[in-house]
Amino acid sequence: MMRREEILSILEGVKHPARGEQSLVELEMIKDVEIQEGAVTVTLAFPKRRDPLAEYLIGSARAALIRHLPEGVKAEVKTVVEEAPKPAQKKPLDLDLSGLSEVGHIIGIASGKGGVGKSTVAVNLAVALARLGFKVGLADADVYGPSVPTMTGTEGQTPQAFQDGDKEWILPIEKYGVKWMSIGYFADRGQALIWRGPMACNALKQMILQVAWGELDFLLVDMPPGTGDIHISLVQDIPMEGAVIVTTPQNVALADVEKGVNMFRNKSVAKPLFGLVENMSWFTPEAHPEERYYLFGRDGGAAMAARFGLDLLGQIPIVQGIRESGDSGEPAALGSRPDSLAFLDIARTLGSKVGA
Ligand code: ADP
Repeated sequence: MMRREEILSILEGVKHPARGEQSLVELEMIKDVEIQEGAVTVTLAFPKRRDPLAEYLIGSARAALIRHLPEGVKAEVKTVVEEAPKPAQKKPLDLDLSGLSEVGHIIGIASGKGGVGKSTVAVNLAVALARLGFKVGLADADVYGPSVPTMTGTEGQTPQAFQDGDKEWILPIEKYGVKWMSIGYFADRGQALIWRGPMACNALKQMILQVAWGELDFLLVDMPPGTGDIHISLVQDIPMEGAVIVTTPQNVALADVEKGVNMFRNKSVAKPLFGLVENMSWFTPEAHPEERYYLFGRDGGAAMAARFGLDLLGQIPIVQGIRESGDSGEPAALGSRPDSLAFLDIARTLGSKVGA
């Protein structure tokens, strides 16, 4: 008697002409193989009731069996209609990446936890890159606490939408030479965003993928704080080149940085980390810009970077002006203070790291 493997290897020679020449076996269309004395019955599963190629495939399968089966063994091919097995669940089928087709480097700005100044760094880095002459966009993916509208003085503005065929596009808000997009533009001010789980995840992917970014050298993605499923899904579905991690120098931040680092180095994500930005590295009083007070000890960021094999992209002091400019919507990186220049230095380093 023939073995099932032999029958399958015969059917491997039967290709589906409309499915990239994949065989019936690769397409998982072989529902059943029944082997009896003197007869082999194969059942093919079709995803649709009226598959235009059904007759052709049944005929090809039968011909292949007759050609290879020993003399006198009958070949029969039956069919059954069945939902096709879903292709490996990597990406939802409707993920349309065409809005990113002219975007050079997509870089996530991440932190293991909130409050370390991730958004401040993201916004200022975007402005600094634009000052260096790059075309820059920033997507505020911090759906729980979108701060980009406030930090850029664009709150209350409403992005325009336009229709192109059956797709609706959203135009980013432009200011300071940067294209900004945030879920905050679509929520009433002060209204808490209570999205959780998949809904938040879809909202923020849509906010990146449905935007007509146009031509950009850099698209920074201000990631939500933390390191949960939403992050992994975001990094897997948005074609990010890599990420920058923002931290404060305190020892207690170490565990959070480790989580952030592990997230990107995780096998299912595996994206390069361009380095660490240490925020709030020292305190400089407004009136004495030359003074530095290391409230959390010196070189905490450098030690963390070394520990995780990362480059330290730069250090940003705590200065009143950074918070004030965040509140007033005029990012610090627009100015010429030492902290403004620190953002420019980080932008320059990042630019050269990604070869921009
Ligand atoms: P995250 O995005 O990590 O939650 P934010 O960027 O929103 O953090 O910053 C939290 C608060 O700290 C904001 O009010 C911001 O203006 C302030 N802040 C961040 N970095 C600095 C800094 N280097 N100096 C002074 N204030 C800062």
